[in-house]
Amino acid sequence: MSTPLQQNLLNLNLAGIQAYFEGLGQKAFRGRQVFKWIHQHGFCDFGEMTDISKVLRAQLISQACIKAPEIASQEISDDGTYKWLLRLEDGNSIETVFIPEDDRGTLCISSQAGCVLNCTFCATARQGFNRNLEVHEIIGQLYVANQVLRKLTGNQDGNNNDRIITNVVMMGMGEPLLNFDNVNQAMDIMQDDLGYGLSKRRVTLSTSGVIPMIDKLKETNPVSLAVSLHAPNDKLRDQLVPLNKKYPIKDLMDACKRYVAGEPRRRVTMEYVMLKGINDNEKHARQLIKILSGVPAKVNLIPFNAFDDSGFERSGMDAINNFREILMQAGIITVTRKTRGDDINAACGQLAGSIVDRTRRSKTYATAAVNQS
Ligand code: SAH
Repeated sequence: MSTPLQQNLLNLNLAGIQAYFEGLGQKAFRGRQVFKWIHQHGFCDFGEMTDISKVLRAQLISQACIKAPEIASQEISDDGTYKWLLRLEDGNSIETVFIPEDDRGTLCISSQAGCVLNCTFCATARQGFNRNLEVHEIIGQLYVANQVLRKLTGNQDGNNNDRIITNVVMMGMGEPLLNFDNVNQAMDIMQDDLGYGLSKRRVTLSTSGVIPMIDKLKETNPVSLAVSLHAPNDKLRDQLVPLNKKYPIKDLMDACKRYVAGEPRRRVTMEYVMLKGINDNEKHARQLIKILSGVPAKVNLIPFNAFDDSGFERSGMDAINNFREILMQAGIITVTRKTRGDDINAACGQLAGSIVDRTRRSKTYATAAVNQS
């Protein structure tokens, strides 16, 4: 059990943990050693950290802890996708998904308990919003998933060259740019060579389009950017992604251009959920080509994943292929995202978890909107 006075070391990036050890009167490199034990080797027991003196280990046991969210349940899809429901200390729960592919393994991480944005086609929105996740709850998802997957595959030594999780996408529950500081610290740990050693290219943040925070991300940690576009004109996007009323398409596209400016080979991924009869006809495709003109972008078409009472249907395969063909002919790289894990509700937009005290949604939304303006 942790006590309120114990420092959870999962909350600290490398600079933070070094400062913490200096605060204990130790050399900073002790912090680096412990950081490696935690993130590279997946240890949670100070007693097992053999290159640390017994006296310091005892001090850590009394003053610190390494505490990640607990796994409440695990489901495995027919296609090999894992979904974990993680219980947080305050009773909220979140979901994390692991998607194995031939050449990579992608972990999809949540950034908030619930979401304020209220996109009409997303299951998370129906849950309401409770709060931002702490750093330990964000990086804890990677820590826990790594532990489980290593046990399953027998790779226990924590060697970064033999990773199971090769990519992280901030595409789970919540809007990561509305929890900027904590998400940023967690992404720092993912990228640290003494942590998980993932390059910027292998960490993707997906946003509904919080423009000021896109600019801030470019300055602090320009990871790969994905934008949930979903509509080719403001009228439709206002309905599907209500944040559009605050940050309309033209401004969002300008922000995307700024994000990759000066790096000719970088592109922003535009996510576009294919909703039957809503945003999937030829006219929409042509409008999309227009708004993407001059934007270094590629398009990811996401077949809509249904959930109870969603009120939407997935576009037919013909419509999706046709849409893709039109974009490709205009020279826009377009791929259709493979649906993974929908038999266990682990696919894009199906993550729910359970949120306590949903009544906080309106209050917190108001605060978030004020803070971002
Ligand atoms: N709030 C961020 C992170 C969520 S990412 C964002 O909006 O980008 C999850 C991705 O799945 C987003 O592109 C989201 O719009 C998409 N999505 C949401 N509901 C979906 C559904 N039911 N089917 C397919 N994709 C969905």
